[in-house]
Amino acid sequence: MDELRNYARELLEKEEVAAVIGYQQVTEKRTKPIVITDPAETSRLVFNEYCLNNLAVYLTKARIRSLMRTKDKTMKLAIVAKPCDVHSIVALIQENQIHRNDVHIISFNCHGVVKDFGCDFNGDNLAAKCIKCETHKPLYFDKIFGEEKQTPKAGDASLEKINELEKLNSKERFEFFKSEFDKCIKCYACRAVCPLCYCQRCITDKAIPRWIESSSHQRGNFSWNIVRAFHLSGRCTGCGECDRACPMDIPLSLINRRMAMEVKDLFSFVSGRSLETPTLVGNFDKKDSDEIFM
Ligand code: SF4
Ligand code: SF4
Ligand code: SF4
Repeated sequence: MDELRNYARELLEKEEVAAVIGYQQVTEKRTKPIVITDPAETSRLVFNEYCLNNLAVYLTKARIRSLMRTKDKTMKLAIVAKPCDVHSIVALIQENQIHRNDVHIISFNCHGVVKDFGCDFNGDNLAAKCIKCETHKPLYFDKIFGEEKQTPKAGDASLEKINELEKLNSKERFEFFKSEFDKCIKCYACRAVCPLCYCQRCITDKAIPRWIESSSHQRGNFSWNIVRAFHLSGRCTGCGECDRACPMDIPLSLINRRMAMEVKDLFSFVSGRSLETPTLVGNFDKKDSDEIFM
């Protein structure tokens, strides 16, 4: 932990970064995000299996970005990012929301996080994304800490559920998702935690014309959740934050993960993996299939 704290302190003292976005411990099994601008405060930084938040969401927030601009220069933001969170940062860079030179990525060799605060770290309580993790080492970083360690073994319940839903016909699948989306209270927590939901004005907030009922009413629930899934197709990096944030336990990752599988099969594209390739929707390839799958 000292290595992380000393490194962050030096970055701030040398004015190489304007702020460090990281985690601080709240209780033994809970952390929360912290934005540090004072070098003395870096002693609060931690990194462990309870660092659940995907901090990349803060990189597009106006209040955080305003820290970058001083009277005479623009400074970088340093961010503590798990390897999977680095995928979100890559996607944001690809979508021109932040420049690579404006972000200093401090990452870790990662063996997983718990599915929720308060849990013990073991195979029964592993976050779903860690079960299918392919990048325990970050693909891009400016500094890396931590030793490589084994991730606890766990079954992939999310994939089992996707396979189960695949066996249903389209009407039955529709009914499954409709009953799930019916539970939505339109709190927009899924949108707030998603690094890729950065639109300054979401389609659901538009009143003229009103595309989607935005109040806490079942009307428009299906549209809201399907539109969001569409907007995240080929962009969602599978960080699982929307799933974790949803107070109604709607399994949003089922639809996001299934869409990501479709994108990988059809276009050999996985979001947030390469700074050398364009985004999926920002690239037209004449070889792309024109077929519409039902
Ligand atoms: S998905 Fe991979 S990188 Fe992300 S927290 Fe889990 S083990 Fe770490
Ligand atoms: S849609 Fe959910 S899983 Fe995908 S990037 Fe956004 S918060 Fe993460
Ligand atoms: S977090 Fe859940 S309840 Fe809230 S808007 Fe999203 S899907 Fe609906």
